[in-house]
Amino acid sequence: MIFMKGNLEVICGPMFSGKSEELIRRMKRIQISGKSYLIFKPIIDDRYTSKQVATHDKRTFTAVPTTIDRVGITEMEKMVEEENPEIVAVDEGCFYDMSLTGSVLKWVDQGKRVIVAGLDKTYRGETFGPMGNILAHADEVLKLRAICMKCKSNQGVMTQRLIDGKPAKYSEPTIVIGAQEKYEARCRDCHEIEKE
Ligand SMILES: [Zn+2]
Repeated sequence: MIFMKGNLEVICGPMFSGKSEELIRRMKRIQISGKSYLIFKPIIDDRYTSKQVATHDKRTFTAVPTTIDRVGITEMEKMVEEENPEIVAVDEGCFYDMSLTGSVLKWVDQGKRVIVAGLDKTYRGETFGPMGNILAHADEVLKLRAICMKCKSNQGVMTQRLIDGKPAKYSEPTIVIGAQEKYEARCRDCHEIEKE
């Protein structure tokens, strides 16, 4: 065989489970090995900095910020075509348009190692954006758990959204960047959705 296809790795879990840390760990190894890479991240908020993949303890890696819509994904495809990196990483893949899956599979078919990190589920406990589809196509999946902030078990697989200290309702929008809302990891038993 002359042409080898690549592979798809997914790093997922709830908030505060260490997804960005794991992505940075892999990217550091890629950097040491001298391979070429591109990292993308969505422009959705101004947490810390827009051009870097930041972990909650503020360690960073330079990433290309793109919008989460089809336009942003087309930009990504263009950059990948022009730079032809060996590795393509997407942080916070959950926030992108569903069409991200097609782009990811295209890069894998071109022989690239593709790494997608993101929340697997919304605060409602439903699959988040394209992550369900991307997970189905993954060759390797790392599901991380966080500490449940209510019972302190290590079974935190859910993201709890709190608005003014109370569990968010099901009908709240999925992405809201506001001051009064807060997220924490919870286990299935402690995860709450406010009754309408
Ligand atoms: Zn718990």
